[in-house]
Amino acid sequence: MLNFNLSPEQIELRDQTRRFALEEILPVAWEYDARDELPLFILKKAFEAGIMNGDIPKAYGGKGRGALESALLTEEIAAVCPGLATSIFDNSLGMEPIMLCRNEPLKQKILSEIAADFKLICFATSEPVMGSDVSGIRCLARPDGDDYILNGTKYWITNGGIADYITVFATVDPKKAHEGICAFLVDRNWKGVSVGRHIPKLGQRCSNTAGINFKDVRVPKANVVAPPGEGFVLAMQTFSRTRPIIGSFAVGAARSAMELAVDYAKKRRTFGVKIANNQAIQFKIAEMYQKVETARLLTWKAAWEADSGQDPTVTASIAKFYATEAAMEVVEEALQIFGGYGYTRLYPIEKLYRDTRLFKIYEGTSEIQRIIVSGFVLHGYQPSLPPLEDFPMLTGIDFAVPDGVVDPKIKGWRCRMCGYIHTADEPPKECPYCYFPQTAFKQVWPQTFGTEQYKSKPPPK
Ligand SMILES: Cc1cc2nc3c(=O)[nH]c(=O)nc-3n(C[C@H](O)[C@H](O)[C@H](O)COP(=O)(O)OP(=O)(O)OC[C@H]3O[C@@H](n4cnc5c(N)ncnc54)[C@H](O)[C@@H]3O)c2cc1C
Repeated sequence: MLNFNLSPEQIELRDQTRRFALEEILPVAWEYDARDELPLFILKKAFEAGIMNGDIPKAYGGKGRGALESALLTEEIAAVCPGLATSIFDNSLGMEPIMLCRNEPLKQKILSEIAADFKLICFATSEPVMGSDVSGIRCLARPDGDDYILNGTKYWITNGGIADYITVFATVDPKKAHEGICAFLVDRNWKGVSVGRHIPKLGQRCSNTAGINFKDVRVPKANVVAPPGEGFVLAMQTFSRTRPIIGSFAVGAARSAMELAVDYAKKRRTFGVKIANNQAIQFKIAEMYQKVETARLLTWKAAWEADSGQDPTVTASIAKFYATEAAMEVVEEALQIFGGYGYTRLYPIEKLYRDTRLFKIYEGTSEIQRIIVSGFVLHGYQPSLPPLEDFPMLTGIDFAVPDGVVDPKIKGWRCRMCGYIHTADEPPKECPYCYFPQTAFKQVWPQTFGTEQYKSKPPPK
């Protein structure tokens, strides 16, 4: 059943995108990075080449690409410029809540428009005082008849300075936390919407990032993406589908850093040999490749889960924090292989280093991904083994070695404190190892747990 082969169409899509990245983005990315400016014409070309907005369903005039295809595309663009990848694929983030929402007329209107025309839509949950804690949104949506009046500021908004539309998450009452969160589609040109200055950043300087302020902005009912109480879940569902893409950004950046380092290591000579001849460098290269491959597998798995209708939340989080941290390690080692040249702005590693750093922060920091994954492992994961206190670890004297036939008459008692197994009709008065009383013992033989409950379960939808 498992198959990692891409279809001929997927390979063609990847090659087409790679050509676009090499021909259109590679020559100009460093100059725009130095200028701290987004080259809008590249986004327009990406739209015309069918690279942007590929995930819009066919019913709305889109290409209906799945998450795996998006992962293939984004890796290629990020491999050449992570900053431009962020801005080119930001439409997918801005549109995802709309694709997931129940407002059919809004979907028809907006998704068809974005599929047909070069329009930008950004995504806004973060604010000056909150990012990780989406339940802490303060941007206020006051109901007014059928409309809502929006007041507040969104911060860190990718493409915020250039987008035509904003998918805004707000609250009807900050005290209601999760229960108050709602979402709206806002037109940039509406009265009361203003955009702050482009925020200067360490990296991803080809990507526009800005704050957006809403002053008494009237939002009609027709533009409600999520009514109060449904916005928080919608934001989380959005991230579950977009986080694999951040994983792919990281795979692309790491892959480039590895390729550049390999190329350099094969040419640079020290002590009379090429540096690639040193085992210390070869080991770095092996680990770089291991990280690129592992990160891609995790990312593809999350994308595959999303495409097969499963809930990809946990795998998406694992993919995001593994791939983004692995990418940073790969770029760091690549810079080391370049020696002093890696530290200059005349070689591409320095930009990759700055650009890659962002992946661990946006769309949920590495810490937030760990909270999601540990929450699942602690509270939702289905174990395949019985609890430790039920472990029947019998010794050789309790069964016939080598046949492994257990004496049917024996009883086994396990000390729940230190693990000692006592075989007798009754547990001991106290444990001979840790001196805990008889009450610490639990019968573990004959087996007290049923094995039925440890059968595999189908994945959650
Ligand atoms: C360039 C850029 C582009 C962005 N684009 C967008 C965008 O388009 N739309 C949008 O809405 N947002 C965007 N963001 C915002 C981004 O999603 C947030 O910066 C991110 O979610 C972190 O939020 P914060 O910066 O407020 O950090 P905080 O939430 O204040 O966290 C600060 C630190 O504390 C850690 N932390 C927080 N809570 C916990 C906890 N419970 N346990 C352990 N550690 C914790 C965090 O991991 C982090 O390290 C962008 C950010 C940047 C830098």
